[in-house]
Amino acid sequence: MIMKTIQLQSTADVVNNAKKAGMMVPAFNVPYLPMVEPVIRAVVDQDSFALIETARLEWIKFEARSPAAVMEEFMKWNEPDYVRIHLDHVPVIDEDNQRVGFLSIIKEAIELGYQSVMVDGSRLSLEENIEATRQVVEMAHQAGVPCEAELGAVLGHEAGPPLPYEELFESGLGFTDAKEAVRFVRETDCDWLSVAIGNIHGAVSGALKDKKKVEARLNLDHLERLCQATGIPLVLHGGSGVKREYLLAAIKKGIAKVNIGTEIRQAYESALRESASVAAAQDAVYERTCWLIRDYFGLAGTRELVTGQPEI
Ligand SMILES: [Zn+2]
Repeated sequence: MIMKTIQLQSTADVVNNAKKAGMMVPAFNVPYLPMVEPVIRAVVDQDSFALIETARLEWIKFEARSPAAVMEEFMKWNEPDYVRIHLDHVPVIDEDNQRVGFLSIIKEAIELGYQSVMVDGSRLSLEENIEATRQVVEMAHQAGVPCEAELGAVLGHEAGPPLPYEELFESGLGFTDAKEAVRFVRETDCDWLSVAIGNIHGAVSGALKDKKKVEARLNLDHLERLCQATGIPLVLHGGSGVKREYLLAAIKKGIAKVNIGTEIRQAYESALRESASVAAAQDAVYERTCWLIRDYFGLAGTRELVTGQPEI
């Protein structure tokens, strides 16, 4: 009798495969725990592959509660052939300018079984960002887990008036610098890099969090420079609200992971407001996630392409 051993590809492999294929792995944020189930169901039903992720501000400012609570919910619905769990933004300095005990949070998440992590030192100087990221990468790699970092300023999470977007885009203010990116990747050994090329985060504070996001553009020439300079998979945060033609072109040019938060969060919140039913809100998240995977990104049926053939 022939024994078949199916070896699951690591998350690092899957993201590398996506990059090689000119595709990307979507990463869905779950600020409310009941969002986990419908997102996973949508990914499976569309025969695609995705990450489920939670960021520190989702358990501080929303209702994700803690990395442990998200992991517990994830394990109830886990489909290892289709989804993995990722720890999104753990900032060294947060959106309210407070210092965060980032090392202990990330250590705890790795111990809980998170399959990839992110440290966000983008509010630090280049030297400090390198130092903080290096420490996290070392810890993650010891556990066999890939580490994402951020260089440049993907704005939008801060409280206060929204940015004059066109001004920001034209000036390139806060964009990831290609020379700094080369040094950053070399000295930190990070696996994936979140870049700022015109993308912005959805607002998360006050009344602004319900507003439709400004339609962002991306500087594709700049992205190409960053891609050639770093050689590693690049990540686009603030995927909701970027003009579709820019997003699809960016994926062809080396964006191998796209974070999607606002789009499915607002689907959940508005359905819950209208119906007062968590089940109805979950349905809204399921429909929105299916639509994103199938119609918006064209990723339905691509799971095998990024996860590869199982080893026999
Ligand atoms: Zn982000």
